[in-house]
Amino acid sequence: MSFDSLGLSPSILNNLSENGYKKPTPIQERAIPAILKGEDVLGIAKTGSGKTASYVLPILQNIQRIVDFKNRHITGLIVVPTRELAVQVHEVIEQFNKELPVRIKTLAVFGGVSVNPQMIKLQGVQLLVATPGRLLDLIDSKAVHLSDTRFLVLDEADKMLNLGFKDEMDRILGLLPKKRQNMLFSATLNEDIDQIKSLLLDNPVIAKIAEQETDIELINQRGYFIEEKSKGPLLRYLIKENNMQQVLVFASSSFRADQILDKLRKNKIDAMVIHGKRSQGSRQEALNKFKNGTLRVLVSTDLLARGIDIEFLPYVINYELPRSPKDYIHRIGRTGRAESPGLALSLVTPEEAHHFRVIQKKMKKRVDMEDGNEIDLRGY
Ligand code: AMP
Repeated sequence: MSFDSLGLSPSILNNLSENGYKKPTPIQERAIPAILKGEDVLGIAKTGSGKTASYVLPILQNIQRIVDFKNRHITGLIVVPTRELAVQVHEVIEQFNKELPVRIKTLAVFGGVSVNPQMIKLQGVQLLVATPGRLLDLIDSKAVHLSDTRFLVLDEADKMLNLGFKDEMDRILGLLPKKRQNMLFSATLNEDIDQIKSLLLDNPVIAKIAEQETDIELINQRGYFIEEKSKGPLLRYLIKENNMQQVLVFASSSFRADQILDKLRKNKIDAMVIHGKRSQGSRQEALNKFKNGTLRVLVSTDLLARGIDIEFLPYVINYELPRSPKDYIHRIGRTGRAESPGLALSLVTPEEAHHFRVIQKKMKKRVDMEDGNEIDLRGY
């Protein structure tokens, strides 16, 4: 199938080919025509599937058609769980908005940065990307009005519920007009999603994109049995011995991530950290540097396990295992994408060994283990 058959306007089609998008991904094939027709859509697709463009393109086109320039309120609202995703979605919007015959005013708002500049820029915005907390702040200070919103997207809705945004989402939904088009995207379909689906969506078109089995197959996985006290030296050994130049290291908490960062820096390994307790500026700087290949190690909590698209990432290291097998798959799914092989390594203490077996069972794949305690780590 080509983009031509989806009902997109000539200027968007033009822009797609200029941006090197040759043919639609499966989620785009399903979601774009449905959204253009005004239907509600439930998209089950994860990051990397092209899901952002699957709602951004038809929404831009729909807003172009109906925009009433006297209406100074928000026409389209995209709610996302993290600041990084807000920035990423906004980048995709701007990529396509640039060339439209009637440019649409768009903005991303999120917490962790000062609210005043966002308030000033909100004037006349038609399409807004927002995290729930900041959106409510702006509503409370009357900088955002949702009374004329016709399009609503909840992206990474599963994560939004996991992160405890339920109350905030209920408030936001209560402020929206009843008649509107809803689009819900989630990496997984579980009971929570089922619940908001029935609350939000009116006879939706369901676009479920099967997880590609090959994703996991593309990733080379290895585990190292290691005593807790030797994890730091083993991490540095692995980075140096394999000459890893772009590696994402996952830690179990913000506190642990900072500790790992500290040790890496003391050992002169170029590293930055990203977690919920860091300022937005430092998070974005770390992510940008990491994405463009100028940062060697990014230490992160599960904040980054989903939602963030990095085109090619050769290495992921689980310094500590995540609690759920699903998160393990999301973490290692950061690598081995776009048909490039990746390597995912896990450091496993005796206490974590049982949990790692459970993860392998759920993943239906056995991971080869080495005994890290036998590696000579002196000097690391
Ligand atoms: P997403 O799943 O929205 O995070 O998108 C993942 C990546 O795929 C982004 O870097 C997009 O620029 C890219 N992408 C999305 N759709 C297409 C397409 N049809 N052809 C090529 N690349 C695409």
